[in-house]
Amino acid sequence: MKYSLIIASFLTICHISFGQGNFSPCSHEAILNKHLQTNSNAQEELLNTELYLQEIIEKNRTKTKKSDTSQYIIPVVMHVFHDGDFGKMDMEQALSGLEILNNDFNGLNDGWETIDAAFDTIKGMLDITFCLATIDPYGNSTTGLIYHEDADAVYNEGNLFQYAWDNHKYLNIYFPKYAFTPPTNFTAYAYYPSNYDANNNTGGIFYSSIRWGYGNHSELEAGDDWASVCSHEAGHWLNLRHTFEGSCADNDLVEDTPPTTGGEIELEGCYNNDNSCGVPTNGENFMDYNHRCKKMFTQGQVERMEAALYLPSRINLWSEENLIETGCMELITSTDETDLIENVTIFPNPAADFITIENNHSNYLLEIFTKDGKLVKSFSVNEKERQIDVRDLNNGIFFFRTSNDLQIKSGRFVVHR
Ligand SMILES: [Zn+2]
Repeated sequence: MKYSLIIASFLTICHISFGQGNFSPCSHEAILNKHLQTNSNAQEELLNTELYLQEIIEKNRTKTKKSDTSQYIIPVVMHVFHDGDFGKMDMEQALSGLEILNNDFNGLNDGWETIDAAFDTIKGMLDITFCLATIDPYGNSTTGLIYHEDADAVYNEGNLFQYAWDNHKYLNIYFPKYAFTPPTNFTAYAYYPSNYDANNNTGGIFYSSIRWGYGNHSELEAGDDWASVCSHEAGHWLNLRHTFEGSCADNDLVEDTPPTTGGEIELEGCYNNDNSCGVPTNGENFMDYNHRCKKMFTQGQVERMEAALYLPSRINLWSEENLIETGCMELITSTDETDLIENVTIFPNPAADFITIENNHSNYLLEIFTKDGKLVKSFSVNEKERQIDVRDLNNGIFFFRTSNDLQIKSGRFVVHR
């Protein structure tokens, strides 16, 4: 990627105005413009971050093998603002949105199997899990879902960052119910990776709780792809631009996403703005604005997001030390690390209806957890091989743990049908 193109891209960002209709999926550009105007160093930092990111991408490309750490886990804290009467999203809804986010990144979303043939070969998944933290910054146990009674913050007024948890340790997601007036035009925005933001705890994702997941406080019907705007925002948080950045000049800094003019709000379907730049549009891309048709990232976008995880503002988040500190390591590590997962076999993986677990011990406790740590199955197993019915589990990532007096072993599997 030529640096001149990168610089041109930033200049373009500065001149994009935010003027879409009443119902926007993402206010990222408006917030970025504001950020660039109010922080004199932001432009330079953005450029330096991009140059460093390109170095990481180049390094990753020349490796014969990618990093040993192919799975990334990101601790998350959700700040929910309310005024006593409204704004209180419950845990079930919070987890519902997190599940959508994790499924989308791991190719477990409903639309994954129906991607347009023109783009099916370049779809990509990032092995990442966004984990609701179970330990707070003071070392106390937490649900990871923090309620703040603050009437101003409900309207995203005042300084919501005063509630931030260390940005080097947690992805902070803020849920002011409404952020702009009229209230219905806001869904979300996110901040790019930035040392300044990470050091000052001024990064993260802002999201309307009425459009996060499905449940008590959400206006979305189950299955509505609008809920995948969370994956669009996490894409920004990992340094992805909109696919229509620069319009037909194609300045999203990703090589395999075709150019499109698609910045207009498109409420229905996957093929809005198709061929707008003379080539088929990847309207199913999470970073387009086809917010009722969200199915995929490309491999180029995944490469860019994975590189972003190595930036100074992101690299500590998924370190083993941090996962232990935030309670996100608990389910995937063993008390005997040298023995981790050895001699425990699970198949098939992914599984649709049944999984079989083989263990070299015949008397052990088998527990299955959701990726958020909720125990969903528990068995006393008296044989070395045990078949488990998983037909009652939704598509997604699960963790298992086998334990007896001698050892604890753990791992993960995927349910996909
Ligand atoms: Zn966006």
